[in-house]
Order: sequence, then C-alpha cells, then structure tokens
Amino acid sequence: MCSSDLIPIIYEKDVIGIFAVTSKEPDAISSFQGHLLNIVADQAAMSITNALLHSEVERLAITDGLTDLYNHKHFQERLTKEFQRIERIPHSLSLMIIDIDHFKRINDAYGHPTGDTVLVKLAAILRKILRGIDVLARYGGEEFAAVLINTETSGAKKMAERLRSHVMNNPFYVDEKKLTITVSIGIAMHPHDAATKEELISKADQALYYAKKNGRNQVCTWKDVGKKV
Ligand code: GH3
Ligand code: MG
Ligand code: MG
Repeated sequence: MCSSDLIPIIYEKDVIGIFAVTSKEPDAISSFQGHLLNIVADQAAMSITNALLHSEVERLAITDGLTDLYNHKHFQERLTKEFQRIERIPHSLSLMIIDIDHFKRINDAYGHPTGDTVLVKLAAILRKILRGIDVLARYGGEEFAAVLINTETSGAKKMAERLRSHVMNNPFYVDEKKLTITVSIGIAMHPHDAATKEELISKADQALYYAKKNGRNQVCTWKDVGKKV
C-alpha cells in the first residue's frame, strides 16, 4: 500500500495550489517530515504569489488603464524593437493611426464618463476587427495605433477600410443612448514611405491629418498625401 500527503498551498486564506507527496512505501511520511512539507508549502505560496504579482505589475506597466490596450510607452518600445529587427531581417511594416472624429462633441453632449465608455467600446471593436495584428495601442486621448508587420499599404488600407465602415455602421449603445461615431485613419509604411520609426509615425500622422482635412470618416495613406505635394 502506498502513502501520500496532500498539503494545500495557501496565501492569505486562499488555496492557490496543492503540494502532493506520494510514496510506494506505507507510512513513508513521518510527522516531522509532514511538518517540513508544510514549511516548504508556505515558501512555495510566497514564491508563487511574488511571481504572479511581478507579472501583473509588468502587465500593468504596458497597459492603458481605461481600454486595456497597450499604452503609448509600450507602443514606442515595440516599434523601436521592430525597426531594430528590420536591420537584421528586412521586411515591410505598416502603421495605422486611428482617431475618433469630433470626439469632443460626445464629451460635451453626454459627459466625460460616456466618452470613456465609447473609448472602451471602440477598443473592443479594434481588437475584434484588427485581430491578428502585432501591436494595438492607445496612442493618446482618442487616438489608437496599430502596427502591422509584413503588411504593405494595400493590405493595411483594406483592413482600415473594414474598420472604418464597421464603426460607421454599428452605433454604440451607452445608457440606452444610441451613439454613432466615425473614425479617420492615417497609414504609412516602411520601407516605401519611411526609413525610420520617427519618419513612419510622422507620415502616418500627416496622412491622418489629411483625412481630417478632407472631411473625416475616411482612410488616407501617405501615398494619398504625396500625390498632393
Ligand atoms: P477631430 O475630428 O478633429 O479629431 O476632433 P476631436 O473633437 O475628436 O479632437 P480634439 O483634439 O478637438 O478633442 C479630443 C477630445 O478627446 C478632447 C478630450 O477631452 C477628449 N479626450 C481625450 N482623452 C479622453 C479620455 O480619456 N476620456 C474622454 N472621455 N475624453 C477624452
Ligand atoms: Mg485626436
Ligand atoms: Mg479626434
């Protein structure tokens, strides 16, 4: 007959795991050894909790508190890393900057908390429609950024167009209020439009500005801007 001992791993009254010790021998675990195993389980509880806390702190440091997307800092770091990778393995990369049109009017008409809910709901749509993309971040107040690795302007534009029309055609419901919003999107790509990270951001930004100037609710690429200068 074998023997076994099951020791709960407890942190602040919560069981976070079970420490199982078995032996083929009967009565293999003495009461002193049982006492030692309890000490080991306590140590394990501490280590596991520290590891979980550490990874949660790391997650929070790169996450936007409202939308749960990556924050601006992490977006910048990932784009820097991507350009370092490009030096070793050249590949294309598109950047999309998405800005809600006339968002200030939503805040003015319905209040800041409603505006916050719109941002949260839009973030969920971005996650759904742009799934599979490499970095999706809250770039600023009502602006979002998406980095598309191995994607050229035509592919990025198709994705952006799908997003733009989805947002326009699917109103949000917030506290039983129906809110229709639109977005403008600027796109630039490496290597065609920009050699560096800074240039890529600047050109996507200029493409976004161009979309705004041309009436909003549209997708513009750096190529569109280039045609006019
Ligand atoms: P445009 O079409 O030119 O982009 O107009 P806009 O009103 O969207 O842009 P503008 O830059 O004039 O205003 C942006 C607004 O976004 C103003 C600011 O109060 C709001 N905003 C920024 N961050 C937040 C946020 O976290 N929550 C809410 N509710 N509003 C925010
Ligand atoms: Mg803006
Ligand atoms: Mg805006």
